[in-house]
Amino acid sequence: MNYDEKETLPITRNEFTNLEIFKNIQFEKLAGFLLPCKTREIEPGTKLIDPEIPNTDLVILLEGLLEVRFESEGGLFISKIEPGHCAGEMSIFDSTPPSATVLAAEKSRVLLIPADIARAMISASHELSLNFLLILSQRIRTNNKLVCEEQYHIRRMEEYAMVDPMTGLHNRRWLEQMYTREMNRSNTGHFKLIAFMLDIDHFKNVNDTYGHLAGDQVLISVAQTLTRSLRPSDMPVRYGGEEFTVFLPGTTIKNAKIIAERIRNNMENMSISLPDGNILQVTVSIGFAERVDDDTVSSLIDRADKALYQAKQNGRNRVCQNLNNGKFDLL
Ligand code: GH3
Ligand code: MG
Ligand code: MG
Repeated sequence: MNYDEKETLPITRNEFTNLEIFKNIQFEKLAGFLLPCKTREIEPGTKLIDPEIPNTDLVILLEGLLEVRFESEGGLFISKIEPGHCAGEMSIFDSTPPSATVLAAEKSRVLLIPADIARAMISASHELSLNFLLILSQRIRTNNKLVCEEQYHIRRMEEYAMVDPMTGLHNRRWLEQMYTREMNRSNTGHFKLIAFMLDIDHFKNVNDTYGHLAGDQVLISVAQTLTRSLRPSDMPVRYGGEEFTVFLPGTTIKNAKIIAERIRNNMENMSISLPDGNILQVTVSIGFAERVDDDTVSSLIDRADKALYQAKQNGRNRVCQNLNNGKFDLL
């Protein structure tokens, strides 16, 4: 579009050539379109784009600094916009509200190009369309990256929430999720599973005699020995306090007895060195039960716990099976 050199343009030729959106475009070709456009000087904190208000202008930063934030003014910081770059390029094309807030991070000066003029400029300049496409592609890439990072963090947090930080074992919440997953996967609800409930014998004495930190060290060592005594498919969990659960999928009672006895024996033979030079030994009692249909995590663990109680009552450092008929088998 032609323009009279004497008319005042909102920006200089020099400024025009430094703008990302007008890269490789002759000043003369688009200068006429800029005649009705305005520049605005804004103070820090001034909102230029607001998700609550439909956006009508392409915003191009000439001087200063803008920032983009999720939704509201105090929302999560997304990115900065430096001089030469633009904002609002998406919301001037679709009629949906802007997805982020753009505000001045410093005293700034912006060029505002109304949506209809921006469209007319694109029709007149193939290069401008290409520049728009490039900017939009970069925006999509940046946003994809943000979404991926966000999902990664959410997954990490979910994982953290299911791990006991002291022993590194999974916790009860994880056990519940895993069990529900197995239930859904089995379709019929039939799947073989044995649950162990393991409790350290006279653990209170360890805390009382050597202190709570020594107690923590014992818990860590017990967790390590437990993991070492299991197959990769078995699932050790810190159930709470000094109680551990193990779920053993696809295990026969015969093998469960062998594994429980191996754990008990490995614990008995374990020496735990404390930082003060003391060497501790502990024993554990283990109760176990086989899963029956309709079992929940709690009902299964409850039966293993009843067998554990029998093991404790009968001298500790023992393994006991709940026969699921009100009777128990002490090993
Ligand atoms: P029993 O043989 O009957 O199991 O005796 P116990 O002393 O082990 O039994 P009890 O369950 O009464 O005691 C468990 C103790 O475990 C009490 C509690 O202070 C301690 N404890 C629970 N969680 C932790 C922990 O994270 N760190 C430490 N150091 N101690 C813990
Ligand atoms: Mg206990
Ligand atoms: Mg105990």
